[in-house]
Amino acid sequence: MKTRFSQLSHHLYVHHGHVNTGILRDGNRALLIDASGNTLHTTLAELGITTVEHILFTHHHRDSVSGFPIPDDARVGVPAKGREWFSHVEAFWHEPKYRWHLYNYRPHNLMLANSIRVTDTYTEGAQIAWGAASLTVLETPGHTDESVTYLIDVDDKRFAFCGDLIYDEGTLWELYSLQKGQQTSDYHGFLGARNELTESLEKIRCASPTALIPTHGVVMNTPDRAIDTLLKQLEHCYDKYVAISALRYYFPKLFAESLPEGAPTGREDTEFEGRAGHMPIREGKPPPEFLRHFGTTWLIISETGEAFVMDCGSPHVIKQIQQLQTDGDISEVTQFWVTHYHDDHVDAIPEFQETFPCETVTDAVVAQVITNPSGFRIPCISPAVARLDRVTHDGDSWQWNEFTMTAYHFPGQTYYHGGLLVEGRSVRMFFAGDSFTMAGIDDYCSGNRNLLGKDVGYEKCLRLIQHLKPTHLFNCHVDPAFDFTDAEIQYMLETLAEREKCYTALFPWDYANYGMDEHWVRCYPYQQEVVPGATVQLRVEITNHSLEPRTATAQPILPASWHTEIEHVETTIPPKADGHINFSIPIPRADVANLVHGEARSPRPTVKEGEQTHPIAESEGQMRVVIPVDITYNARPLGQFREAIFVFNGSRHNPLCRNSRS
Ligand SMILES: [Zn+2]
Ligand SMILES: [Zn+2]
Repeated sequence: MKTRFSQLSHHLYVHHGHVNTGILRDGNRALLIDASGNTLHTTLAELGITTVEHILFTHHHRDSVSGFPIPDDARVGVPAKGREWFSHVEAFWHEPKYRWHLYNYRPHNLMLANSIRVTDTYTEGAQIAWGAASLTVLETPGHTDESVTYLIDVDDKRFAFCGDLIYDEGTLWELYSLQKGQQTSDYHGFLGARNELTESLEKIRCASPTALIPTHGVVMNTPDRAIDTLLKQLEHCYDKYVAISALRYYFPKLFAESLPEGAPTGREDTEFEGRAGHMPIREGKPPPEFLRHFGTTWLIISETGEAFVMDCGSPHVIKQIQQLQTDGDISEVTQFWVTHYHDDHVDAIPEFQETFPCETVTDAVVAQVITNPSGFRIPCISPAVARLDRVTHDGDSWQWNEFTMTAYHFPGQTYYHGGLLVEGRSVRMFFAGDSFTMAGIDDYCSGNRNLLGKDVGYEKCLRLIQHLKPTHLFNCHVDPAFDFTDAEIQYMLETLAEREKCYTALFPWDYANYGMDEHWVRCYPYQQEVVPGATVQLRVEITNHSLEPRTATAQPILPASWHTEIEHVETTIPPKADGHINFSIPIPRADVANLVHGEARSPRPTVKEGEQTHPIAESEGQMRVVIPVDITYNARPLGQFREAIFVFNGSRHNPLCRNSRS
C-alpha cells in the first residue's frame, strides 16, 4: 500500500489525505489535528495506533472535519470562537438569514452537515500537555473568523499546524473564504480578511516554528520565506483588484488605506482616486430626458407614452410608476426587462407583474435563477419567483416603439447577468445592470462568479462595450450616465490580463478561477422539496477552468438511516466548459421523522461523524436534510466539497417530528 504519511520528528507524523492530519504519537496512542477523510485509518493502522485519545480542529470547514469517525471516548477540542459551528450547526441550516438575501458570508461555505461532539474549547494561549509534547493555541483568524493555529513543541522542535492560512510558499488554497466586510457587509469585502490573515501569519512567524503544516497544502520548512512570498503576492493581487474597482466610486473610504505614504491629508472622499497608476474615476453625464431612475429601476418613456421598465426591487418603485401614470407622464408599461437576479432588483417582481401585466423578458442565464431561486445559494439571492414571457440569447434584437433593443449575456457583476443595448433618438444606451461605475468594474464579491479569462466574465463584457461603443452606460444604482474612453477600456482589459497571471500564481491550481470562483462545483437544484418514496434528481455541475480535459467524480452521501448508498460517478469535462453528473436518489418510504432524524433522534448520543447520522434543522414546518457531496477532481480528492438540501414538508402536522425536537 502506498504510504500516505511523512514523519516530522520522533513523535510527530503527518497523514497526507485530501487534507493534512497531524498525528502526535505516543506508543499506540495518538492526538490528531484536523482528523478527516476515509484514508486516515490506514495510516493510523500502519503506525500501530490503536487509541485516538484527542482530536483538535483548526477551523469549522466540513472538508477538514468530516469523514473520519470520531471515537466515542476521544476528547474533541475546537476553537472557542467557532464552537457553535461544530456542536450546534443545525442552527445554521435552520436560519433563513443564512439562506436568503445573502450579504454576509461568515460563517460561510463548507458548514458541517451535522454537529459533532465537542469536549474542549480553546482561546488564545491555551496550553495542552500531551505525551512528550506541549501544545499552545494561537488565535489566527483570516481563513475563518475562529481559525486557530496549534503550536506543538516536541522533540526539541516547534511545529505550527496553521489551518488554511497558507497553502505553500506564496500560495493560498482559495480566496473566497477571505471575503469579509470592512465598513460594509461581507458582500463588498473582496480579500477583506487579508489584514487579519497577515496579522495571523506574522503572529505565527513570531513564534519561530521550524515548519508550517497547513490543512490543505504542503509542509513548509522555511516559514519566513513562505509567509513573505505569500504576503507580497497577496498585496500585488489586491492592488490589481483596487486599480479598476467600481467600489472606489461607491465607498471611496474603503480604499483609504491604499493612499500612498505621504499623500496629502484632508482630501475629500469624493476626490479619492487610489494609488498612483490606478484608473482615474470618470465624470458622469446627464441621462437623456426620456429616462427616469428610481430605486434600482431605469424606465424609458417612448414617444407613444408607453414605458419600458428595468428591474423592480421594491414596492416603492411600483408606486412611483403608478404616480407617473397618474401624472400623465406615461400611458402604460408594455415591456419589462430584468438585468440580473440580485434581491434589490427582483424582490418586488411578483407584485410588479400583478400591477403591470406586460411582457417580461430576460437573459436565459438570468432566467435560470429568477424562475427557480431555490435551486441556487448565491449572493443577494431573493426567494421571489418571477414569471417570464421570453428569454433572450446573446445578440437577440427586437423593436420596442422607436427603439431597437438588443440583449446580451453579460457576465459582469455576476455570472447570472444580462446587458441591454437600446438604440434610438440618436443615442446608443447600454444598460449594464450593476456591472460598472465610473470607477471601473463591480467584481467585489467572489460568490458572484467573476471569471477571469478570454470570452468570459468582465473580459467578455469589456470587449462587447469596446465593440458596441455606446454613447451612454447605465448602472442601476448610479444616477448619472457615463462612458469609458478606448484607453480606459484597454487599461481595464490589461489589468484583467495581469490578474489572470498573478491570481493563477496565488493558487495551487492550474488556473486562477478555481481559487476565485466559489461555485466552480455546485449542486443543482441546491434545495428541493422531496417526499418519502419518491426518486429525486440531483445534478452536480462542475466548471472545468483548465485548458485540458478534466475528470471529476461525485458521490452524494445520504443519511445512514436511509440504508442507501449512492455509488460515485465519474465524468470527463472538456476544457473551459461546464460538465455535470446526474444522480437519481431514492427517498425511502418511511415516516418523515425517521428519515430526517434517523438514529440521532433520542437524546443525542455521540454523533459519529463518519456514520453520517444527519441530525436536522426544522423551520416553519419544514425539515431539512443536508446531503454533502464528496468530490474528486483531476484525481485530487476534495472531501465533502459541496452540499444539497432536501426539504421534507408537513412536519407541523406530524406529532412524531415535533416531539423529536429536543
Ligand atoms: Zn478551510
Ligand atoms: Zn447587483
